[in-house]
Amino acid sequence: MPQQCPFCHFINNKPDDLWVVGETENFYAWLEYPEPRAKGQTNIVPKEHRESLLELTEEEWNEAMALLRKTVRRITEGLEADGVSVTMNIKEAGGQMVPHAYIQIFPRFKEDENAGTPTGAIFPKREELQDEDLFQEVQNLMNSADVGSGKPPKQRPRIAKEEEEKEETEDEELEEEDERNKSAADQWKRMKRGGY
Ligand SMILES: [Zn+2]
Repeated sequence: MPQQCPFCHFINNKPDDLWVVGETENFYAWLEYPEPRAKGQTNIVPKEHRESLLELTEEEWNEAMALLRKTVRRITEGLEADGVSVTMNIKEAGGQMVPHAYIQIFPRFKEDENAGTPTGAIFPKREELQDEDLFQEVQNLMNSADVGSGKPPKQRPRIAKEEEEKEETEDEELEEEDERNKSAADQWKRMKRGGY
C-alpha cells in the first residue's frame, strides 16, 4: 500500500466507516461519503491497491462488472432512481482524483436539475475531428494495440510492505503510521474538495 492512499487507509484501518452497499471477494461497493453529488452515489473499489482500472486483470474486471450490475439494480429497485450514469475516470488526464482505482455510479432522478444531461456532455463537438482520413488513422492506431492477453498492460508494483515494516523499530513504525494517517486524511480532504 502506498503510504498516502486514502482508499487503502480506510479499507485497512477503518473498514467500519465505509457505507458498504455491496461486496465481492476483491471489491467493495460503498456510498460516496461525506459529500455525495447524487443520492446513492456509489464507488466500486478494489480492496487491494491498484493505481488505476488499467491494472485490473480480466477476471477482476468481470468481478467488478458483476458487482456494478448488482449495484445498479439496488439503485433502480431499492432507491427507485429514474436512471443511472456510470463513470470510469482512468489516470490523471482522465479525471482520476485518487491514486486507487474506482468506478463511480451516479443514480439519476427526474427532479434533479441535471436530469437528462449525459455525463459525456463535458466533451463538446470538434469539427477538426470530423475527417475521414483521421478516422482511418485513429482506427488503425487503435487496432494496432495488442490487447488479446487479458492481462493488465504492465506489471503491478509488488507491495513489499511486510518486509519493509520488519526492518523498522516499533517507535518508527508508530511514527510512520501517524504520518500515514495524517497524510491520508489530508489527501482525503483535498480529494473531497476536488470532487473526485
Ligand atoms: Zn490504495
